[in-house]
Amino acid sequence: MELPIDPSTFRIPPNADIDLSDWSTNEHGELSKDEAKPLQKALNKRLEELQENLYAHGKERLLVVLQATDTGGKDGTIRAVFDGTNPQGVKVASFGKPTDEELAHDYLWRVHQHAPKRGDITIFNRSHYEDVLVVRVHDLVPPDVWGRRYEHIRNFEQMLVDEGVTIRKFFLNISKDEQRQRLQDRIDEPAKHWKFSFGDLEERKHWDAYQTAFAAMLEETSTDQAPWFAVPADRKWFRNLVITGELVRTLEEIAADRFPPNPELDGVVVE
Ligand code: ADP
Repeated sequence: MELPIDPSTFRIPPNADIDLSDWSTNEHGELSKDEAKPLQKALNKRLEELQENLYAHGKERLLVVLQATDTGGKDGTIRAVFDGTNPQGVKVASFGKPTDEELAHDYLWRVHQHAPKRGDITIFNRSHYEDVLVVRVHDLVPPDVWGRRYEHIRNFEQMLVDEGVTIRKFFLNISKDEQRQRLQDRIDEPAKHWKFSFGDLEERKHWDAYQTAFAAMLEETSTDQAPWFAVPADRKWFRNLVITGELVRTLEEIAADRFPPNPELDGVVVE
């Protein structure tokens, strides 16, 4: 289907020099929220069909990586983009603070086992990128240790691609003021209290260091085969449209037209 916005506008070219202040957080693509609604519905429907094809065909697999600052909207993205898809073929792997067992291994150990199997879409809600984000910002390991991880990650993802995994990575790019508003809403609205953590206020103090770490992540690890998209995410409906649009485009390549009608079934009648 034709989309009035082109998700590739937000694709980070390999080896780019990234200054995040050049990347808009607040786009609307000449659309209103109301105009976006039927587009989103049509994209969800197509994503649902393509995901069923992917699952039924059982050969290709798709890894979707989501990274963002706190309140960036990872959970809402998963709900909105994958609405209507079959949970049997869509998995979410969330990566929180590593356990002692995980810390006793290399940092990719806990990640690799969640890479998608044939027929599946797997969404990484946070990912191995935390090991060059929170770990870098909070000096959890020395700079020479996190510094060499960009190359590990490029090689790890290339290995997955070589083995048949398609990868799309989305950085949900919100402004500092939008984060303030979203945190305030979590405080002001009792129904959102469960989402609030005082730790988020502490993390907010490191906003600039996180922006630097996100920019480095985008510069170092957006490749032709495993590209990053810096998605303007202040407007949730626009964010959803861009990500669903890109995933539909990708799945059209790896999951469409897998089932031509079987001529052997022509005229077969069940007694
Ligand atoms: P979310 O914020 O994604 O909804 P949580 O509230 O459980 O989920 O937060 C997960 C926390 O785990 C975040 O603070 C994140 O920085 C932290 N985390 C994830 N991966 C790592 C890692 N490799 N090392 C240290 N902390 C990590």
